Amino acid sequence: MIFNQPLQQLISSHLDPELNGHSRCHPLYGYLPQNSSAPLFIKREDELNANVVGTKHRKYLSLLPALQHSGICHVILIGSAHSNNVLGLSQMLRSRNYAVTALVKSPGNRALNGNHLLLNMLLPSESIHYISHQAWPFVQQIAEEAAQRLNQEGTQTTVIPEGGYSEAVLPGILTLAGDLQLNSEQLQTEFTDIWTDSGTGVSAIGLLLGMRLLGMTQPRVHITQIAGTPEEFQQRYNQFEQWLETLMETPLPSQRPEVRFIRPATAASYGSINKTILRESWTIARETGLLMDPVYSVKHFYTVKHEMTLNPPSGPQLILYNGGTLGMSGFQSQLASQESIV
Ligand SMILES: *Cc1c(COP(=O)(O)O)cnc(C)c1O
Repeated sequence: MIFNQPLQQLISSHLDPELNGHSRCHPLYGYLPQNSSAPLFIKREDELNANVVGTKHRKYLSLLPALQHSGICHVILIGSAHSNNVLGLSQMLRSRNYAVTALVKSPGNRALNGNHLLLNMLLPSESIHYISHQAWPFVQQIAEEAAQRLNQEGTQTTVIPEGGYSEAVLPGILTLAGDLQLNSEQLQTEFTDIWTDSGTGVSAIGLLLGMRLLGMTQPRVHITQIAGTPEEFQQRYNQFEQWLETLMETPLPSQRPEVRFIRPATAASYGSINKTILRESWTIARETGLLMDPVYSVKHFYTVKHEMTLNPPSGPQLILYNGGTLGMSGFQSQLASQESIV
């Protein structure tokens, strides 16, 4: 991986050198309003890893080496039955011979499809513990108690919080800003705006802190908040900022890019899918050649379209495709039922 010096020195020893940290950028044809004063580009974070969505892959770049160095052999994961993080990490960990237990929020629908099916293929049923909705607020505590028991029995165990929110992902999520700089040089294009999406916010926080570290005050960053609130995002940002200052052993430069939060233009509550999202999934596929996961990426692109139509941008625009096609698999029958209306 080629990174700008200060970033390289800080993080390279924390990253798995065998994992890919570079994704390409290319012009985006179709779907978003085309305008010669605002050329559109897409960053293909979906191509980082064929089996894991892009935002999660960057977290694992440093999480996996941290687990390896700590001598952990059993990992407890937390998430919904369709969590991209639980599915992604299960693959990365099982293929490295870690024992994995998943604490999964009981799904409303017990039918095995999408990520839930794939998770069951990866883990035997005794390794998947369904946690009721009533008990879900205590899931982190339940996981920590289970880890404590295993540790007492001599099995070195750790818990990865929901969405991978932990200090060990910090070097990995910082790679995005450096990789963006590389895209910008390769395309000889200075982006004026970046459009990304957020769930826990961890990946977008990595982008913002990485930009600060590199002294980048441009481009402006627009964040479609698929989950959470700006206040929750700010709290997590402050925590990662502290962890970064510990890693750097100096305060971060105070100059930072301008940030704007956007609510999803439709189906605003997290995980919800409506007819618009299903229709847009088809439209995006037909107009751009990209198969996108509905829960994050389609909602994000539809929201960006809405924003760009309201306020036509100027200057080169970069839209991040953070998800992946695999995220569509839980929605096949709903997507199929939309065929007649496209
Ligand atoms: C998890 C996820 C995100 C958001 O990443 P966070 O780091 O949680 O903000 C975006 N898109 C997809 C497809 C995801 O799985």
